[in-house]
Amino acid sequence: MNFAKMRQLMINRQIISRNIRDQRVISVMGYMPRHKFVPDKLQKDSYADYPLPIDNNQTISQPYIVALMTENLSLSSQDRVLEVGTGSGYQTAILSKLCAHVYTIERIETLLKKSKDIFRELNITNISTKLSDGSLGWEEFAPFDAIIVTAAAVNIPPLLIEQLQINGRLIIPLGSGFGQILTLSIKKSDGLDEHHICGCSFVPLIEKEGIERTKP
Ligand code: SAM
Repeated sequence: MNFAKMRQLMINRQIISRNIRDQRVISVMGYMPRHKFVPDKLQKDSYADYPLPIDNNQTISQPYIVALMTENLSLSSQDRVLEVGTGSGYQTAILSKLCAHVYTIERIETLLKKSKDIFRELNITNISTKLSDGSLGWEEFAPFDAIIVTAAAVNIPPLLIEQLQINGRLIIPLGSGFGQILTLSIKKSDGLDEHHICGCSFVPLIEKEGIERTKP
């Protein structure tokens, strides 16, 4: 399969044509090998315009949604970013090329192990991973310049707001059920500035059921 060609078509038809303008985001998505993060049996769909199933009933997000969420974080190369919901690790890898360091948390051990193997294979060294409930954040490395939550919640987990820097950006799908609103919040000294970006559909953020360990 000609993955480079498929990737270029993805960039033209799904990313640029839908008004993603940040050249850094476009450039990273133009070379990041998304097919490495996709299950073997779905390789031919790696660059398709929809989310794909990965292990443990989770999903790798649609490329356009990855681009949109990343662009809205307005990252600079000095930023430290917290990601909740590593999933396949694709979004994490994209972020890692646009900021200084990514701290990513996943609650399913199998997924985290797989994504760590891919980061190693791709020689990405500015990602720290943690098996935990990401709604608690990662206190030790707070405050973060940006936080991205790639699973849907009814409200923003309060500890994530606490662990965000003033003027920091937090993006999260908010709502219950099948449809949510992708929401960007900017932290000000007197509260959050909220902006609704678009409708979206994400798997839920699981906050109280703890972590899912790999069976021995
Ligand atoms: N951006 C990812 C990608 O590109 O593959 C997609 C992430 S997937 C839509 C959402 C992920 O959030 C799942 O892997 C799920 O296990 C994880 N998740 C759900 N609740 C979580 C929690 N409380 N803490 C950490 N991860 C969580």
